[in-house]
Amino acid sequence: MDAKEKTARVFFTSNLMAWNKKINNRLMPWKGIKDPYKIWLSEIILQQTRVEQGLDYYNKFVHKYPTINDLASANENEVFKNWEGLGYYSRCKNLIATAKFISNEKLGVFPNTYEEILTLKGVGPYTAAAISSFAFNLPHAVVDGNVMRVLTRFFGIETPIDTTEGKSLLNTLAQNLLDKKNADKYNQAIMDFGAIVCKPKQPACNTCNLSKNCHSFNVSNPEAFPKKAKAKAKSNRWFIYFVPFYKNKVLVGKRQQKDIWENLFEFPKIDLNEMPSLDILNNSENAVLLKKMDMTISEIPRFNVQLLTHLKIHACFIEVDLKKEIQLECFEYVDMKTLKNLPFPKIIAAFIQTKNFQKQA
Ligand code: SF4
Repeated sequence: MDAKEKTARVFFTSNLMAWNKKINNRLMPWKGIKDPYKIWLSEIILQQTRVEQGLDYYNKFVHKYPTINDLASANENEVFKNWEGLGYYSRCKNLIATAKFISNEKLGVFPNTYEEILTLKGVGPYTAAAISSFAFNLPHAVVDGNVMRVLTRFFGIETPIDTTEGKSLLNTLAQNLLDKKNADKYNQAIMDFGAIVCKPKQPACNTCNLSKNCHSFNVSNPEAFPKKAKAKAKSNRWFIYFVPFYKNKVLVGKRQQKDIWENLFEFPKIDLNEMPSLDILNNSENAVLLKKMDMTISEIPRFNVQLLTHLKIHACFIEVDLKKEIQLECFEYVDMKTLKNLPFPKIIAAFIQTKNFQKQA
C-alpha cells in the first residue's frame, strides 16, 4: 500500500465515523441492541429484503417469539405462516433449524464467536460478521450491497463485484478499513451511509463529507459503480393450479422437493417450462391429473406473475368441483378455516384472499 492509498483509507474511516457521530439519525428497532437472537433475526429477515419490507416482520417475530426458545418450540406451519409474503422461504426453514439447534444443543445460548456463528444454518460471512460485530463487537467487517457500492465508488474499483476476484478484493479492503475498536458502530455506519447518502440512484454527493477524496465523484460517475458482470437472464415456469373442492374441503399439499417454496403449501398443479397450450395440457402426460379429476380444460385462465431472483413464475388457478373424492400422494383435504392458517407462496395466498373461500365453509 503506498502513502496516497493509506491516506485515502484513513480519510475514509475517520470521515465515515464523523458522519455517523454528527449526522446519522437513521433509526431501526434492532440498531444498537446487543441481544444476538434479535440481531440474528433481523439479519436473516433482511437478507435480500428491503428494510421497509422487513420491519413489520421483525416486529411480528419479536412479539410472537421473544426468545430463541419460543421460536424453537413454535409450530412450524405457524412460523411459515408468519413468514408468508417475505419470500426466500429457505431462510425461514434455516431460522427454525437454527433456533432448534441453539435451544436444544446450546441450552438456548447464542454462540459468541465469528467462527461458531458462521457454522449456523443460513449464516454466511456477511451475517456472521454482522452478528459478531453488533452483538459482541468482534472485529469483522460486513460486506453487503450497500458496503460494496460505497467502497467501489469511493475507491473507483472497476472489478465486477459479482466475480470471485471482486468479492475477494472488497472483503480485504473492507477488513482493512474497519475501525476495529468500534466494529459495531463502524459496520452500522457504513451500511447506513450506503442506504441514505451513497444511495443506488442519485447519491447525495453534494453534501457528502467523503466527496473531497471520492474517486467516482471527482473523476467519473458514481452511478456507474459498482460494476457487474453480465446479468443472468430470468427463466420462466408456468404453474397451472387446480383448486379441487370436495364436500366443502379443498385439496392441498406441502412442497417437499428441493425447489422454490419448500415447506409451503400449494394446490395440485401442472408445472411447465414453456407457455402452455390447450393441446399440451389436455393431451400429454399432464392429462393424468385431469383424468383423475374427470375434467378437460377448455380455456386457460389469465396468468398472474411473481418475480423471483432468477425466475419468473406464471400461475393460473382453475377451480374444480370434484364429483367424487380423489387421492393424490402428499395431498390432503382441509377445511376453509385450516386453509386460511396454512403458509402459501405469495401468488397463491393472493388468490385465496381474493376468492374469500371462507364463505364456502
Ligand atoms: S461523493 Fe457521492 S459517490 Fe462518493 S461516497 Fe459520497 S455519496 Fe458516494
